[in-house]
Amino acid sequence: MRILDEIKLDYQDVLLRPKRSTIESRKDVILERTFTFYHSPKEWTGIPIMTANMATCGTFEIAKILSKYKMITTFHKYYSVKDYENFFKTFKNPDYICYTSGIREQDIKQMKSMKQKGLLEKFSFICLDVPNGYLQNFLEVIKDVRKMCPKHIIIAGNVVTNEITEEIILAGADIVKIGIGPGAACTTRKMTGVGYPQLSAVIECADSAHGVSNEKGVGRIIADGGQQYTSDIAKAFCGGADFNMCGSLFSGFEQSGGETIEKDGKKFKEYFGSSSNKAMKDFYGKKDTYRASEGRYALIPHKGDLNDFISELMGALRSTATYIGARQLKEFPKRATFIKVNRQLTTYLEKYDTGN
Ligand code: 5GP
Repeated sequence: MRILDEIKLDYQDVLLRPKRSTIESRKDVILERTFTFYHSPKEWTGIPIMTANMATCGTFEIAKILSKYKMITTFHKYYSVKDYENFFKTFKNPDYICYTSGIREQDIKQMKSMKQKGLLEKFSFICLDVPNGYLQNFLEVIKDVRKMCPKHIIIAGNVVTNEITEEIILAGADIVKIGIGPGAACTTRKMTGVGYPQLSAVIECADSAHGVSNEKGVGRIIADGGQQYTSDIAKAFCGGADFNMCGSLFSGFEQSGGETIEKDGKKFKEYFGSSSNKAMKDFYGKKDTYRASEGRYALIPHKGDLNDFISELMGALRSTATYIGARQLKEFPKRATFIKVNRQLTTYLEKYDTGN
């Protein structure tokens, strides 16, 4: 047994110190970034924010909206080849969509079938997604998929520590997905005791990923899960995240997945984890008895139109930039000084907030 003594941090444990700034208007702040990668020869330009590959936000409907803002939709795993064939009859923009696959035999089979039909080429990104990225077999699958898809930008995760981040990149991934336990619908920490405070995981893994470099580019990371507020997205970028992936922040909108439910005259939307009892029953027809559910099901208040939230999100990031003196998103980590805090971010008025 060993105890690591250093206290690690979550987003709510820090604030950003304001810095002298010469930016005159928030609209001058550039949120787009251009990335090159360690393996993929592609160059990608956009706002590096993406949906989680969850049924409530990784959907075709959301992709039609987010692609207009140059943000990425990571599709959930439950679409069939037929669903994709239909979708691509009208949707033509590969840059802002990501195909998700698990590593089970049937997942790989579907990916191969997508490849044979020329559908995989309609995506810039492929995400290899497992709850526990520490399995040795995961590295083998990444190597195989890299051979099969030499040009794609491959995302793989989830992990939370630095050595494995490097290993995953060297095995064939361009981007490593960081986060075990922080997700809003995730009960892994509670059920198993396993996890890592998310901001520290992001800072440490970004540092090791960026250290893996070649003439084409460097390793990249995604901060996945745990962003409760737009400020958490800003903090993840400041900590060195190249991309932010969010589930609950993109759920609950008119255009999000999940049922709309009326209760006592108020409108709610479903939000549920990918390994919740609901997801397992709805999409696989059953929950295997050897597995515990590590996902929550919740009804969240209906949030209205997703487009309004995106404007607010971009406005908030521009505002962070002006406070810390960053002219572009790329400068966030250079400009950031975190202050450790020991209280929550709310003010006493929060409980009276009407949301208007
Ligand atoms: P959020 O942005 O909602 O806080 O977190 C989204 C992330 O939570 C997802 O990208 C994924 O990594 C994680 N997640 C989603 N569903 C589940 C689940 O059922 N169990 C666990 N452990 N994590 C989940």
